[in-house]
Amino acid sequence: MIESHCGGCACGAVRYRVVGKPLFSTVCHCRFCQRRLASAFAIIASFDAPAVEFLQGQTSECEHRSDESGRWLRMRFCPACGTTVAHTAELRPGIISIAAGTFDETDWFAIDRHIWVQSKQPWVAIPEGVASFMQGAAPG
Ligand SMILES: [Zn+2]
Ligand SMILES: [Zn+2]
Repeated sequence: MIESHCGGCACGAVRYRVVGKPLFSTVCHCRFCQRRLASAFAIIASFDAPAVEFLQGQTSECEHRSDESGRWLRMRFCPACGTTVAHTAELRPGIISIAAGTFDETDWFAIDRHIWVQSKQPWVAIPEGVASFMQGAAPG
């Protein structure tokens, strides 16, 4: 049986389920992620779009254009509580990235790589043996 995992926004209105493991899982230390999440970094688990199912609740969308690449990111968030649960990126058609802090359980996958390390907080230490990139990890 293929594993599946559920998650949702902070208020519980938006719920989703994913099937299988992430294609890749990323910690992003870019300034945009720091600002949009009001935090140190983003935890991002990326799936083929058909592996992600939105079960309940309407999401709103806002578009961000990278000032580095000029490409769009579309963030899907709960309009009631503001939690971003997922995003899609022009760079990666057919992939939905889940904001992995919103999974009900967060211990079932490992982080493959750290990106935009050039703007990481100085007190964040990256474990040895995990790929890290000063900027994005294109093309992956
Ligand atoms: Zn909510
Ligand atoms: Zn980022």
